Amino acid sequence: MQLQNRKVVIIGAGHVGSHAGFTLIAQGLVDEIVYIDVDEKKAQAQALEAKGVRIDHVVSIEVDDHDIANRMGGRRVCSKCGASYHVVNIPPKKEGICDVCGGALKQRKDDDPATVKDRLAVYHKETEPLKGFYEARGVLKTVEDQPTVEGTTREILRVLGVAE
Ligand SMILES: [Zn+2]
Repeated sequence: MQLQNRKVVIIGAGHVGSHAGFTLIAQGLVDEIVYIDVDEKKAQAQALEAKGVRIDHVVSIEVDDHDIANRMGGRRVCSKCGASYHVVNIPPKKEGICDVCGGALKQRKDDDPATVKDRLAVYHKETEPLKGFYEARGVLKTVEDQPTVEGTTREILRVLGVAE
């Protein structure tokens, strides 16, 4: 089944959002995806509208702050080859050491708990009001984050009415 209008905005959850977006594009379900993540502002949505860009569907992925903090706080990246790990979800065989190249695993500045907390505060202040902006235009749908990226993608397809 095809969406009638094919311009979609996905708010939040960077990696999960891009997986869902990729799936929608790859299956030919939509023409264009606009991502709005932390750091994006309502002004940008207004600017899009002022340029005459009509948004047909907006999906907001709802993730608990606590889950985001755990997810990002546990991320580790190899300082040599850039491979990524998670202390709980994708642990390396040897703590602190990259499976691929033996390099030391580091926490990125973006993932440190204080930075994550700041970014969440910005998200609630600057990004979340976008939901009201799009709700008023009748295009907002929300999706609860699922334990797997595939699960969240399925939910997004379902709210867009294109699930098989
Ligand atoms: Zn490595």
